[in-house]
Amino acid sequence: MKYKFIQTALIFISFTCVFLLGSCRNTKKVVFKTPVNTKTKPIDVQIKQIYSIDDLGVYASNKFDGARLNGFEKKNDSTAIVIINPENQPINKSAYYSFKAWSDLSKPFYFTFKYPKGHEHRYVPKLKLNDEWSVIDSTDYFKQDSIVTIRVNLSKDPITISAQEIQSTKHVSDWYQKIAKGKEDLIRIKSAGKSPLGRNLPVLDIYKGDSKGKDIVVLLTRQHPPEVTGYYAYQYFLETIIEGSELSKQFFEKYRVLAFPMMNPDGVDMGHWRHNSGGVDTNRDWSMYHQPEIKQVVKFISKTLRKDKTRILLGIDFHSTWHDVFYTNKIREGTTMPNFINDWFTRLEENIPNYEVNEASGNSTKPVSKGWFLYGHNAVGITYEIGDQTPKDQIKLIGKTSAEEMMKILCNH
Ligand SMILES: [Zn+2]
Repeated sequence: MKYKFIQTALIFISFTCVFLLGSCRNTKKVVFKTPVNTKTKPIDVQIKQIYSIDDLGVYASNKFDGARLNGFEKKNDSTAIVIINPENQPINKSAYYSFKAWSDLSKPFYFTFKYPKGHEHRYVPKLKLNDEWSVIDSTDYFKQDSIVTIRVNLSKDPITISAQEIQSTKHVSDWYQKIAKGKEDLIRIKSAGKSPLGRNLPVLDIYKGDSKGKDIVVLLTRQHPPEVTGYYAYQYFLETIIEGSELSKQFFEKYRVLAFPMMNPDGVDMGHWRHNSGGVDTNRDWSMYHQPEIKQVVKFISKTLRKDKTRILLGIDFHSTWHDVFYTNKIREGTTMPNFINDWFTRLEENIPNYEVNEASGNSTKPVSKGWFLYGHNAVGITYEIGDQTPKDQIKLIGKTSAEEMMKILCNH
C-alpha cells in the first residue's frame, strides 16, 4: 500500500515536471486586442548596380549597405530622376533613400525624387563627403507640389545623398565592440541568433558579478531601419549607463541590462523603409513571433529570466518619428514600478533646460514591444521616439540625462 502510494506520487511528480518544462520551453505568446498578421510576405529586392547617364557623365550607385535606389534616369541636361521604391506595400510613409553620385566633370547637378503613388518625400537629405555628414543647405532644397528636387555639387569623388546618416550593421557592430572594450567584467557580447538572411542579432549582456536575481532593463532599437536619430539616443543612453561613474557603479550593484542594438539587421543593410527581409513590420510581431528576429530575441530574454530567476523591470524601445515623443502605457497600477514614468519625466524636465516632455499615453492594442513588456511581463514599457530632425546635441542631452535619471530612480527603488 505504502509502495503504491510512493509510485503514484512519483508518477504525479514526473508528469508535473514534464508539463512545467513543456510550458516553460515554449516562449509564451502575448495576446493583444488587435491582432496583426505578421506572417512572411514577399519583398522586392533592389538590384545593386551603378547607373550612368553617359551623355552627361553622371553616375549613381546603390552598391553599399544601407543604400536604396531603384532607378536613375535623365530628365534634362542638368537633372536626373531618382526612383525610390519601398520593399513592399502597404507600408508606412517613411520613404527612405540613400545613394552615391559622382560625375566626370565637377558641376552643380539636380536630382528629382520619384516615389510610388501614395508616397512622398519625407527626409531632408544628409550629405556625406570626405567622411563628414552634413544636412543639405535649405537653398539647395526645392519643393513644388510635394515633389522635391535638390541641387548638389558633383565631382569625381562620390557624394552620398541619404535620407538619414547611414548606420549599417557594420557601423553598429564597430560601435558596441568599441564601448565594450576593456569592460569585459561588465559587458558580455552575445548573440540571440541570426536574421533570415544570416545576419547577427547581437545582444550586450551587462551585469557585474553574479547574474542571479538581478532585475533587468531591456533596451531595443533599429526595428525600423531609417530611424537613426532614435539609435543615436540609444547610443548616448547606453554609453552613459556603462561609463563607470559612481552612479553607474551603484546601478550595476542591483541591476542588469540586456541591450539589443540591432533588431532588424536585414532591413537596415537592405535599405528598407520599415520592414525586415520577411516583408513585415517587426514591431507588430510581439504577440505571435512569426519573424525569426523577434522569436529569437524573445527566446533569449525568456531563457535569461528563467535561468537567473529574475524579471524585467523596464523595457525601452528606441525609434524615430516626426518629433520627439515618449509613447507610454496607461496601465501603471500593479506594474513593476507604478510611479516610474511620472518620476522620470519630472526629472527630465528639471534637468534639461527649456525641455518639455511630450508624452502620448495609451494602451497598446497592436502587438508592439511596449505592450509586450506590459502584458507579457507586467513591466514598464516605453517607446522612446526622437524627431527625424532633432539636432545631435539635443539628442545627446536627452539620451544622457534620461539614462542618468533612470539610474537614479532605480537605485532608490
Ligand atoms: Zn519606429
